[in-house]
Amino acid sequence: MRYISTRGALADAPQGFSDSLLGGLAPDGGLTWPVQMPQVTPAELEAWRHLSYAELAFAVLSKFVDDIEPATLKALCEKTYTPQVYCNTRPGERAADITPLTALGVEQGAPLSLLALSNGPTLAFKDMAMQLLGNLFEHALAARGEQINILGATSGDTGSAAEYALRGKRGVRVFMLSPHGRMSPFQQAQMFSLQDANIFNIAMHGVFDDCQDVVKRVNEDLAFKTQYRIGAVNSINFARVVAQAVYYFRGWFAATAAGAKDVSFAVPSGNFGNVLAGHIARRMGLPIRRLVVATNENRVLDEFFRTGVYRVRKSSETLETSSPSMDISKASNFERFVFDLVGGDAARVRDLFAQVERGGFDLSADPAFKRISDFGFVSGCSSHTHRLAVIRDVAGRYGEVIDPHTADGIKVAREYLEPGVPMVVLETAQPVKFGATIEAALHRAAPRPAAFEGIEQLPKRFEVMNADVAAMKDYIARHVG
Ligand SMILES: *Cc1c(COP(=O)(O)O)cnc(C)c1O
Repeated sequence: MRYISTRGALADAPQGFSDSLLGGLAPDGGLTWPVQMPQVTPAELEAWRHLSYAELAFAVLSKFVDDIEPATLKALCEKTYTPQVYCNTRPGERAADITPLTALGVEQGAPLSLLALSNGPTLAFKDMAMQLLGNLFEHALAARGEQINILGATSGDTGSAAEYALRGKRGVRVFMLSPHGRMSPFQQAQMFSLQDANIFNIAMHGVFDDCQDVVKRVNEDLAFKTQYRIGAVNSINFARVVAQAVYYFRGWFAATAAGAKDVSFAVPSGNFGNVLAGHIARRMGLPIRRLVVATNENRVLDEFFRTGVYRVRKSSETLETSSPSMDISKASNFERFVFDLVGGDAARVRDLFAQVERGGFDLSADPAFKRISDFGFVSGCSSHTHRLAVIRDVAGRYGEVIDPHTADGIKVAREYLEPGVPMVVLETAQPVKFGATIEAALHRAAPRPAAFEGIEQLPKRFEVMNADVAAMKDYIARHVG
C-alpha cells in the first residue's frame, strides 16, 4: 500500500509505508492516507476470528505495509503483543487476551461491554499502538542506517506512551511537549521520572493546543525538519491509527462470539485517532453498525456530527475538564476523516482547512455531510456531573471502577443502545491515572497495579519553557548537536 497527502502532495509519487511511518506530516502540511482502502472479505474475517492478538495484528498490518519483509513484520508484532508487555491487569483480568472484553450487563436489550485497552506499560490505550510503533521505528531506522528526533505534544497519555515505547531505543531521541502543570500527578510522575538519556520532557506554559501548535510550526520549517530529522509519534502518525484498527476486529470477534453480526463501538474522543481507527476497520469491511463519538465538555466534534458545522475554539477557550485527555479543540486526525468524507478531493480539503485557520467550516448544506450516517457516525457529549454519576453507577451496578474518559464513553453509548446490537465501549485508561476524580466519585482510592506504588515520589527530570517556536528549535539544535 502506498500513501498520499490529504492536501494533494505525493499524488504523483505516493510514499511507501516506512516513509509515512518516519515522516510525520506530509510535505504540504497534510496527513498521509492510503491510496486505496484495503478490503477484508467475509471469508478472511472468519479465518481471522481465532488468531492470537499478535497474529491478527500481523494480518491487518500486512494490508498496509508494503516495504517490510512479512517474516520481519510478524516478528515485530509478536515481540509487541505479548502478555509480558500488556500485563498491568486489574484483578481478574486476562493478560493473555491483550484486550479482554468484559461484559457489564444488558441495558435496553443491548449487551453492554468494555474492551480493556489499557493494560500496557502506561495504563492507557495509547500503548496498544505505541509499543508497536517503537519496534517499527527501531527496525526501519536500523534498516536505513538513520536517526530520528521525535517531536510530539501531549496532554498526558500520548507522551508517556511514546516515551515508554522509545526509551533507550537506538537512533531515536524524544522531545515531548506537555502543558505545564496540567497533567495529573500520576501522569507527571510517569513521564518525568524517566531517566533515559534519549528522553527530553518539556513542560510548556499554556494548554495542549499551544504545545501542538509549536510542533506544527517546527514541522512547517522544512529545512529545519530535514536537517534535524524531525519525526512524529503523536496520533497523526498513520501507523498508529492502523495499529489501533486491530482491536476493533478483536472486539468485534469477542462481541459476536454468541452470533450477533453488527456491533456498535463507543469511543471517548479527543484527537480523533481512536475512532478514526474504527472508521478504517469499518471501511475495510468489518460490520460495525455505529461508531459513537463521545466528547467531554469540549464538544467541537459533537457539534460537527450533529450539525455539520466545525467551529474550532481558540486554545484559550479549551475547557479544563476531569477527562483531560479529551480537552482538545482542534482534533489533529479529523482532517483524514474529512478527506474521506469529501471523496478524496484534496483541493476541497485544502480549502476547508484554510477555513479552519480562520475558525472553521460549515458542511451542513453539503452532500458530503450526508455521508456521515453512511459512515455510521453518531455523537454525544458528557460533563463532569455525568462522569461522576457514571463512575458511581458502574461501580455500584457492575463492580467495575472505570476511568473518567471511559465514563464519558459509557454516558454517550447509553444514548445509542439498540436491542440485540452489542455495544462495546472502548476503555481508554485505568482509573489510577485520574485518581482525584475517582475519589470525588467513589470516596475511595482507585485500584493501583503493584508496579506503580509510590511513583509520585520518584525524582523528576524536565524543563519548563514558553510556547515559543524559535526557542524550541534552539533547544532541539543544542541537544541533537
Ligand atoms: C488519548 C486519549 C483519549 C482520546 O483519544 P483520541 O485518539 O485522541 O481521540 C481518550 N481517553 C484517554 C484516556 C486518552 O489517553
